[in-house]
Amino acid sequence: MEYYVKFAGLDASRYPGHLTYVLEFCGCNLKCPYCYAVDCLKSQNKPVGLASVLEEIMDHQPIVDGVVFTGGEPTQQDLFPLARALKAGGLDVKIETNGLNPSLIGKLVHNGVLDSVSVSLKAIPGDRETLKKSAGKLVRNYWSTLETTLGFARHVDLEIAYLVIPGFNDDPKNIEKASLLARRFEARLVLEEYNPETRLDPEFDYPSPRVSYLYELADYSLVETWIKTRRGGYEFVKPTPTSL
Ligand code: SF4
Repeated sequence: MEYYVKFAGLDASRYPGHLTYVLEFCGCNLKCPYCYAVDCLKSQNKPVGLASVLEEIMDHQPIVDGVVFTGGEPTQQDLFPLARALKAGGLDVKIETNGLNPSLIGKLVHNGVLDSVSVSLKAIPGDRETLKKSAGKLVRNYWSTLETTLGFARHVDLEIAYLVIPGFNDDPKNIEKASLLARRFEARLVLEEYNPETRLDPEFDYPSPRVSYLYELADYSLVETWIKTRRGGYEFVKPTPTSL
């Protein structure tokens, strides 16, 4: 087994409670104009063998206690052998995904080799116009596919990540609707800070939100909500309302 992957190294901000090693898997099936992983999308590095990937990560044990698969879109590659080996090595495994490969997520969850899933929500259910702009292409059956993924992922630690882009998708009603989706799958909502500095499409011209604005938007959520920023990583904002 070989992987198109970049070794991004140690990170304490991507998996709360963990010091992780981050692997960036190259390539993606979407073309989001705001994508921050431009190098990873375009890169066609030589593939790296499973043994070499494991050796690189295990070199950092026992400092790290987890691994984050990100990208690009990690589920474009067969992560099962890698996740199984990492779990066998005593590490927790988290994936950041666009949610469009439910069968792989299901396989990882059912085999007990995945501990945490972050699914990025490209648009609020039913908003096809924003979805097309957000994903950079037409995506058939987007929400039904996403819901299948969420259905598998609800059996582990699960978050729905919503990238807040002022002027593009930051209507407070969107936050409420994203939280309702999260509630259906017992997930928390994470409002992510958009960073325009490294975007894929230079013409996608929107600013970064202020951190205080993310806190304001969190008020519209009906579930446990966190924000995620470049400087602060994850910050807990509000618990699930007790009345739910
Ligand atoms: S933001 Fe994520 S899903 Fe979108 S193109 Fe980049 S890696 Fe792919």
